[in-house]
Amino acid sequence: MFHALESIEFRDTWVPQPGGLQHEVEHMAIACSYYLEDLDGRELPRRFLDAFAAILAHSNYAPVLDVAARMKARCGRCADTCPVYQVTREKRDIPCERSELLLRVYRRYFTLGGNLRSRLGDTFDLDDAYINRMAEEYYRCTACRRCKLECPLGVDHGLITHLARWILAEVGITPKALVVATREQLDGKTHNTSGIPAPAMMDTCEFLVEDCADEHQLKIDFPVDVAGAEYVFFPAVSDYLLEPDTLMGNAAVMMATGASWTIGTHNFDGINYGLFYSDRLLDRIVSNEVAEVKRLGGRKILIGECGHASRSAKAFVPTFCGGEAAPPVINIMEYTHAQWKAGKLRLKPDVIKQRVTYHDPCNIARSGWITEQPRDILKHICTDFVEMTPNRTENYCCGGGGGTVSIDEIREFRTLIGGKAKADQIRATGAEIVVSPCANCKKQVAEVCQDHDLDVRVCGLHDLILEAIDAPEFMIIPQDAETATTAEET
Ligand code: SF4
Ligand code: SF4
Repeated sequence: MFHALESIEFRDTWVPQPGGLQHEVEHMAIACSYYLEDLDGRELPRRFLDAFAAILAHSNYAPVLDVAARMKARCGRCADTCPVYQVTREKRDIPCERSELLLRVYRRYFTLGGNLRSRLGDTFDLDDAYINRMAEEYYRCTACRRCKLECPLGVDHGLITHLARWILAEVGITPKALVVATREQLDGKTHNTSGIPAPAMMDTCEFLVEDCADEHQLKIDFPVDVAGAEYVFFPAVSDYLLEPDTLMGNAAVMMATGASWTIGTHNFDGINYGLFYSDRLLDRIVSNEVAEVKRLGGRKILIGECGHASRSAKAFVPTFCGGEAAPPVINIMEYTHAQWKAGKLRLKPDVIKQRVTYHDPCNIARSGWITEQPRDILKHICTDFVEMTPNRTENYCCGGGGGTVSIDEIREFRTLIGGKAKADQIRATGAEIVVSPCANCKKQVAEVCQDHDLDVRVCGLHDLILEAIDAPEFMIIPQDAETATTAEET
């Protein structure tokens, strides 16, 4: 049931609801203090307009803006579907209100009508305050694109958010956390967003091999710099720091299926924050992935459990790296599912006894690309799999999409507002385990659960596959290990 916008009661400022959120959440500071690194405020409006003009000249955003800028419809469907607006009920969080901020600039400065109206008395002029306001508003949107599903005119507010953030980035306004990580990935010594040197990554892999043998009695391997491998592996690099079970599960599947795969030491990070704020950086990051595949003589890009890393590579490797000649991109859940269906991977049924639910990461589910594969596997290995409602293409964002999960300063906004719908969904399932196959979503869903007092385990799909994998030829039999140790000692 949708409401025309005129009939919706707005609040101009958000007020906590009785019996609702536990804490009063302060609004994000309009001074943008945490967005900036040494902002050069000189002639900000002129530089913003120059950047906007350059982007329009060198991209195909203009037709999208032309259509959106002419629309007068205000049916309200986008408001009803936005998880942020559903909580705040603030006019500022209505998707088309937010998009209007950029469209107003577009109309005034980049259309003939706007130019004429300015001569006839339209008083709108872009100034510093307006730019600061855009910076604030465009980071309240998680770019989840849920609103696009319902818009009868197909307006993609997530795309307009992305464009606005790109123009802001070109004048130096971007959340510091995203800038610092991307700078290390593109221009730093380690070439990854977590700043992990290659020897440290290899040490971690050795530790995971030992841990997997001890904890799961399973022999795994992480091949490094193998020339001519079919798959070159790019997980979210933070998995090496935070998600050992996901990585062990990934390696176990590759080993059990006899895959030809490798990790490259020059580039082993699938994270691509360019997807959140700059096509220019998005291009450089996917191009570096392809360069690593070429250096190794590999054939395909295998992305780990990460939604935005998968979408950025799947959608933009062909765009920026040679079209049909570019290496194919596959997400590890697709690989695992295909191998299992082909009978090359055996998984024990009903191994996981707790109630399990599945969170659809927006970047792989919204388009309908990866929705059924993980569910097929979970229904096989779990005794009690339950769905969240809604799910698949209609899923709710975790609340930390669009790169906002990296901004620690807005945790309360992310979890208590952006993530409230997700918390309610999880609570309604009664699940003890939430499978969240994306590095960003894992962090965010775990924080959402903490801040909403939900006692659940948040993990990846391959964490559970690790417990269900049936590969006796790779099992370490404790007796053999004991015998081997004794033989070594004598
Ligand atoms: S993209 Fe998501 S967060 Fe942004 S306006 Fe649309 S529904 Fe709301
Ligand atoms: S952007 Fe689309 S869904 Fe939102 S009010 Fe306009 S027509 Fe309706």
